[in-house]
Amino acid sequence: MRYVSTRGQAPVLNFQEAMLSGLARDGGLYLPETVPALDGIESLDGLSYEEVAFRVIRPFTGDSFTDEELRGAIDRAYARISHAARAPLVQLAPGHHLLELFHGPTLAFKDFAMQLIAQLFQIALRRSGERITIVGATSGDTGSAAIEAFRGIDNVDVFIMYPHGRVSEVQRRQMTTPAAENVHALAVTGHFDDCQARLKDLFNDHVFRDEVGLAGVNSINWARVVAQIVYYVTACASLGMRQTDFCVPTGNFGDIFAGSVARRMGLPVRRLIVATNQNDILHRALTTGDYRVGEVVPSISPSMDIQVSSNFERALYLAYGQDAGAIRQLMEELKAGGFSISQGALETLREEFRSGRVCEDETLATIARIRNTTGEVLCPHSAIGVAVAERHLEPGVPMVTLATAHPAKFPDAVARATGLRPPLPPHMEGLFDLPERVTRVENDVDALKSLIRERRTR
Ligand SMILES: *Cc1c(COP(=O)(O)O)cnc(C)c1O
Repeated sequence: MRYVSTRGQAPVLNFQEAMLSGLARDGGLYLPETVPALDGIESLDGLSYEEVAFRVIRPFTGDSFTDEELRGAIDRAYARISHAARAPLVQLAPGHHLLELFHGPTLAFKDFAMQLIAQLFQIALRRSGERITIVGATSGDTGSAAIEAFRGIDNVDVFIMYPHGRVSEVQRRQMTTPAAENVHALAVTGHFDDCQARLKDLFNDHVFRDEVGLAGVNSINWARVVAQIVYYVTACASLGMRQTDFCVPTGNFGDIFAGSVARRMGLPVRRLIVATNQNDILHRALTTGDYRVGEVVPSISPSMDIQVSSNFERALYLAYGQDAGAIRQLMEELKAGGFSISQGALETLREEFRSGRVCEDETLATIARIRNTTGEVLCPHSAIGVAVAERHLEPGVPMVTLATAHPAKFPDAVARATGLRPPLPPHMEGLFDLPERVTRVENDVDALKSLIRERRTR
């Protein structure tokens, strides 16, 4: 399996190389040259999550890992998800199901990918003896998932930038309380988009990149996308492999893009519905064809407070018929604020994707209403998914909404909606008593470089 960059000017890599590098050297994102078909789709129901994961991921890894290594990594990764089904599907209403992706150690879907890639990094780095520096940008959940997954891994330092004052207290504490010396939480003055822009600056400085062995685990990392395909497959298997719609609370377009890959592998994924909060660049782009960056307005669903949606570049690349030159042109225009999607590409995108936006009041009302009608307590991101999904329900076509985080991760919003503070699950009790460790840093690439050089273990 060979991986190519969406901008066409970076070396072609194998799975392990694409995983370890994250962002391509030409600023693009890696994609497989062709998407493999999933064999034996009809006989997956009743298999363990781990077994389905092995069958889904195996065709993507090529000769980067042996079967035994991959199985071992999958088993260690998912043993840390506390629910026996790993990603249980519960019914909300006739024809509407909720895929609970929040039973991992940091209570968000990001554990599914991060736990697995930490195990794969461990295998690859033990083999090569290399030492690397992971730098990530987070609106909250990626950072906590990365720190939790990589804290015990050899040969890795992890630096996570988050926007100071703009993550929930639970998210912050999950990043600042682990005592392991190889993890470093950095509170950056600015928004998530500033953190993401500085991350791209670091990766685009090739001298620095090679000096510290920079690696990325943001949602642009292809290995994360691959891990996220698995729960689309288990959900379809539970529903009897019928044509199914999926509604996905979306920020950086990583989770929903995994659904698009699942579809290309032959899964009966009919429509993928992008659910956004008031930071609705994707909804606007799909509605009007104009992808234009606005101001980030902080919301009660902070993990989706994003204007530049990085993984959308992959969908654009496919919609433009894998024309890397066209993507380079669009990304150049994006630097000046935005671009218009060509008519042909827009039609292709609209065949696959639908979208909707939910305001703050409707998010709160949805949390309250779903609790009253089902007993299920939603986090604000999942509530946005449910509200958009309800607008797109069609008789005879099951709808699956992805529940991306546990309500206890966003207790203030849930308390505002329901009057009740959802308790943390038992494995996280004590989070509020542990000492915090964090470094404040300016939104400045040189300040970041010096800090990373100084702190990393050698
Ligand atoms: C990261 C995150 C999202 C957005 O996922 P993307 O892959 O960035 O689109 C939605 N909800 C929660 C809770 C998240 O942590």
